[in-house]
Amino acid sequence: MSRARCERCLRPENHCLCALIPQLDSRTRVLILQHPSEVNHALNTARLAALGLNNAQLEVAEIFDHLETLLNVPGYQARLLFPGEEATALTPQAAETGPMLLVVPDGTWRKARKLLHLNPLLASLPRVTLENAPVSRYRLRKAPGPDALSTLEAITHALQTLEPDRSFDALLQPFDALIEGQIAAMGEETFRRNHA
Ligand SMILES: [Zn+2]
Repeated sequence: MSRARCERCLRPENHCLCALIPQLDSRTRVLILQHPSEVNHALNTARLAALGLNNAQLEVAEIFDHLETLLNVPGYQARLLFPGEEATALTPQAAETGPMLLVVPDGTWRKARKLLHLNPLLASLPRVTLENAPVSRYRLRKAPGPDALSTLEAITHALQTLEPDRSFDALLQPFDALIEGQIAAMGEETFRRNHA
C-alpha cells in the first residue's frame, strides 16, 4: 500500500512542504535537467527549487529531445552550472551583459556526467561554477566531497551571487524542514552514528 502523496511537492500528504515553499522572482532563469533516477528520491531538492522560483523550469529525462528549444530562450544567455577545465567562477558581473539561463543538471555526479554525455548540446555550453560556496546543510546523502551542495543549495547560492540585491534565503525553508524531518524519523542516535 502506498501512502497518499501531495501531487505538488511529491511528499507524503502528512509531510507536505508546500506551505513552506516560496514564490520568488528572479532575473536569472533556471532550467533544471533532472535524471529520472532522482524523481522519487525522498530528498528531491531540485523540485523544491523549481516550485519556489517563478522563473524556473524542471524537465526530467535521460535524453532531452527538445533541448535546443529549452536552451534558446530569447533574451537569455545559457550557462551550464558544472565544473570543467574552461569553467569560470560565477560573479555578480557574470549577468551584466544580460540575464542568464542557468542550466543545472540534477543527479549524482555519475548521473549528471551521463546526462552531459548523452546530451552533447548540454556539454557544449559555456560552464560556470560556484565560488565561496557555503558548507552544505545536506547531511543525509553521501556527497562526493566536503564542498558538495544539494541542487537546491547550489541554485540558491548561484542566484544570490548573480542577484545580490535580492534575498533567496526563503528557498531553503522547505529544505531545512525536510532535513529536520528526516533526522527525527531516523532518530538522533542513528544520525549521530552515521553522520557525525
Ligand atoms: Zn505539497
